[in-house]
Amino acid sequence: MTDPEEMTHPEKSEAHLCAGGRAASAPLLGHDSEPTLFELSEPGRRAWQLRTTKVPEAPLEQLLPEVHRRGAPPALAEVSERDLVGHFTRLSHRQFSVDLGAYPLGSCTMKYNPKVCDEVASLPGLADVHPAAPASCSQGWMALLVELEEALCAITGMAGATLQPAAGAAGELTGLLLMRAWHEAQGQPRRKVVIPDSAHGTNPASVTLGGYETVTVKSNARGCIDLEALRSVLNTEVAGIMLTNPNTLGLFEEDIVAIAEAVHEVGGLLYYDGANLNAILGVVRPGDMGFDIVHLNLHKTFATPHGGGGPGAGPVTVSRHLASFLPGPRPRRVDPGVDGVGARYEWTTPQRSIGRVHSWHGNALVLARALTYILVHGDDGLREVAERAVLNANWLRKRLSGTFDAPYDRPCMHECVLSAVSLKRRSGVRALDVAKCLLEEGFHAPTVYFPLTVEEALMIEPTETESLQTLEAFASACDRIVARAGTPEGAAEATEAPRTTPVRRVDEARAARSLVPTYDTRR
Ligand SMILES: *Cc1c(COP(=O)(O)O)cnc(C)c1O
Repeated sequence: MTDPEEMTHPEKSEAHLCAGGRAASAPLLGHDSEPTLFELSEPGRRAWQLRTTKVPEAPLEQLLPEVHRRGAPPALAEVSERDLVGHFTRLSHRQFSVDLGAYPLGSCTMKYNPKVCDEVASLPGLADVHPAAPASCSQGWMALLVELEEALCAITGMAGATLQPAAGAAGELTGLLLMRAWHEAQGQPRRKVVIPDSAHGTNPASVTLGGYETVTVKSNARGCIDLEALRSVLNTEVAGIMLTNPNTLGLFEEDIVAIAEAVHEVGGLLYYDGANLNAILGVVRPGDMGFDIVHLNLHKTFATPHGGGGPGAGPVTVSRHLASFLPGPRPRRVDPGVDGVGARYEWTTPQRSIGRVHSWHGNALVLARALTYILVHGDDGLREVAERAVLNANWLRKRLSGTFDAPYDRPCMHECVLSAVSLKRRSGVRALDVAKCLLEEGFHAPTVYFPLTVEEALMIEPTETESLQTLEAFASACDRIVARAGTPEGAAEATEAPRTTPVRRVDEARAARSLVPTYDTRR
């Protein structure tokens, strides 16, 4: 690091910005590993310069007291703008993404996200507002948040919402804390939450974090909850049930009304995991099925790119009797104005609020994208999203039912679960090998080995944004992979796949067991 004063000197900085990098000698799109920014680092290089301003300079001691100043510069990589852009562009060329092609990763809803949503989220009037700005300076943002809360309540059939939770799992925890607060307010604290055996892994994790015990209930041969098994575990110790409908097999719980009645009968609440709402948007509402609490993954259903670790948003909507427990502060319209003109908003905290679940008002720009997506589509458009998501999944289910096993041969919702059990028995080629072969064919792999209730599971979620031609190309790729597995050489090759990607088969267990999330600068 150099003296900050020197950094503001335009000519000097420019020379640094142009300095060519070491990367030029490395192969540009080769399959070798990309050096880290620390390996590209050269002392004194930088990719930024401070703007020179007319603000009079104060001595450093006045700007920042000694106790707050570093003794030594931080160990940061020093690279030029050219090297920095080159590094990330090379990495992006080694990636698969939703903008590149079909990404049928079941339960993750990796659909194409319309760019208009990003355009709105980057408007300076939205992007440059500080979350601590007083209500009088952020009326536009508050109007947006209230409108989104109302839209999500209309979509889920609920009465109140919080936009604070930062992801699906954060929404689940919020929902369980609401469940706990409600039972405590009834003077009847409870201990257990029921979850079906096909549930997403975050559900039991959230139950534990929420201070409850998980009771697992079995699915029946049709892939749905076994109503008798459910009745046998229901009693007054049960705080509620966490369900997703369609469930993680992509199947609609046909007994949902009877399930809701049985849970409510023992005083329990129904929690709806609405991570993948593109299955039912505008067609059916969780509130009408009898649910009390819903979370939605805006980053799955409402067009925020995801998969790289965030940011996302997992708002929670609740029925009327739970609204007073919602996290606060919430934006509230105190004066509707005339046709929206002169409307006034303020922050309020619900009477029996469980408190904050986010340091601010949620991941605001994800919320702005979601409202854009909802408004651009309108009611009919949202319904069409669900109809196409379901049509695409059923088309693939039928088209591939001769290629793979179809353990649940009945209409599915937004995703279908097939199985490679027969293929494995015939050829030794497993669901994992099929997934890796698909990478060579130019498609992202589907989810494999989930849900846990299906052996050699291939969970395919084509999403509503893929065309008939893309679905056919995907199905043809699956046919080719299965046909090649018919010979011993072909089967052996499948277990070696992928051979054409920048990174070949990785040891996934090792990555999870000996995770190294930092770069040792002393190396
Ligand atoms: C993705 C998903 C979640 C978790 O959402 P995150 O935003 O990753 O925390 C929960 N339930 C289901 C069914 C999901 O598909």
